[in-house]
Amino acid sequence: MTKRIFHSIWFAALAVFFASLVIVMGMMYSYYSQMQRSQLRNQTLLAAQAVAHEGVEYLNGLQVEDCRVTWISANGTVLYDSSADSGGMENHLEREEIRQALESGYGESTRYSATLMQQTIYASQLLPDGTVLRLSMAQNSIFTLILRMGQSICLIILVALVLSLWLAYRLAHAIVQPLNKLNLNDPLSNAEYEELMPLLRRINSQQLELKGQATELKRKQREFETVTKNLSEGLVLMNENYNVLTMNPAAARIMGMVRPLVGISFLQVNHSQPLLPLLSKALEGNHAEDTVTLPLGDYQIDASPVKSGGKISGVVLLMFDITEKKQLELQRREFTANVSHELKTPLHAISGYAELMKNGIVQPGDVPGFSEKIYAASQRMVRLVEDILKLSHLDEGAGTGPREHVELYRLAEEVLRELTPAAEKAQVTLYLSGDRAELEGYPQLLSGIITNLCTNAIKYNRPGGDVRVSLADAEGSVTLTVADTGIGISPEHQERIFERFYRVDKSHSKAVGGTGLGLSIVKHSAMIHNAGIDLSSTPGQGTTVSIHFPKA
Ligand code: ADP
Repeated sequence: MTKRIFHSIWFAALAVFFASLVIVMGMMYSYYSQMQRSQLRNQTLLAAQAVAHEGVEYLNGLQVEDCRVTWISANGTVLYDSSADSGGMENHLEREEIRQALESGYGESTRYSATLMQQTIYASQLLPDGTVLRLSMAQNSIFTLILRMGQSICLIILVALVLSLWLAYRLAHAIVQPLNKLNLNDPLSNAEYEELMPLLRRINSQQLELKGQATELKRKQREFETVTKNLSEGLVLMNENYNVLTMNPAAARIMGMVRPLVGISFLQVNHSQPLLPLLSKALEGNHAEDTVTLPLGDYQIDASPVKSGGKISGVVLLMFDITEKKQLELQRREFTANVSHELKTPLHAISGYAELMKNGIVQPGDVPGFSEKIYAASQRMVRLVEDILKLSHLDEGAGTGPREHVELYRLAEEVLRELTPAAEKAQVTLYLSGDRAELEGYPQLLSGIITNLCTNAIKYNRPGGDVRVSLADAEGSVTLTVADTGIGISPEHQERIFERFYRVDKSHSKAVGGTGLGLSIVKHSAMIHNAGIDLSSTPGQGTTVSIHFPKA
């Protein structure tokens, strides 16, 4: 820009200078011509007076260099000429200046002289004797003038060139400097050029618009990051060359990385071969999904193409943890198998005894025994179905409604009252002690916990033994403890007795009417109350189960 302004100023200055030079030269030429003419007229008048007095004598003694003198008789014959032989010269009566002098006493003309071979000015004066004296001199052309002033003109041109160069340079810099110093961070603070204000105002409004857009973008980015950061599902966004654009912490964790890596190839960070076909399928424009086993567990991977402008520009990968789902499915399958198995045994017994009775094979004396067995098997089935229903009730979200204020001591009293006949039958003594133990919970589930724990403590006890139920109301929690003096549980079984259908001694459990589901119900109900379970047991001495209910 500086260059361009410099050239423009310089060319303009030179153009003005040369135009001025031409005008000045023209004016000088015109002035010079006028001076020459008036000088010639004066000389002619003076010479005419001298010739009038002295005649040809004067002319003969005249020393002229740049002037030609001609004396012409009244009839046009040349009497004397300072530059040519007058004898051989033609009649001058027809010459313009001669004719004017004869008519009015003085004549002047300018024309090309064949004698002097250049543009010539003529001035003629009529003498008293009727003759005419004419003086002429060559008229200088403008080129002659220029040639004569050549040195001075060259000097002027040189000075003008240097001066215009310097001026153009200074001016160009002076114009551009404020532009270079423009504060574009605050466009409206620049008041140097009024003409720039519309442009600066536009820049300012665009900057404000851009700032707004940038803030909005940052906000959206933060939102996106917050959402993806807290996602438990893995999310990876990559371009068509598998370069990772976004990766959330969950995805990094799933792929065994310390932190999310961005800007490198996904193939570098992921070594799981089953993912590659999914990615290529997504890059072909199709949604692809598969289940893969990674070090952290089982994951369902969804790969979807990202399209922009009708073209596939990348792939978005979502990783869902299905380990728990798979385990639950497995547990459900096992549970169904166990339920079928558990129901099959009493059903076979019932059907077997009933068939014998139907066929009349049974002796009348054996009928009460057989009926007793059918009754016991059906009772077992009833208990099983009841426990299964309780569990499925818990699985389906029991304990999601509002909690009630429960006085655990009173609840335990009721349970023990109901269990007293069974305890007496097993020759076991029941004791209840401790605080009122108030908490917020689900009475039915809490009653179920006490019932199952006490039933086990009676069932797996010994005649003459006892069961002690105690309640402790501490600062932040309530503890229910059921301690018995029964057979105890050896350490290797202690971990597993809360599993569904797990029994230490299956036949003993069956003999005492166990279903293998009591402690599962306890565990599930405790979980709903956010309670923790502690179990300590010594085979042959007894078992103590404590449940800690947090109050909040
Ligand atoms: P069950 O209906 O068989 O009693 P539970 O789930 O209530 O099923 O208990 C699982 C197993 O844990 C029982 O079969 C029994 O072997 C053992 N068990 C539970 N409570 C006690 C206890 N108080 N003393 C000894 N063994 C126990």
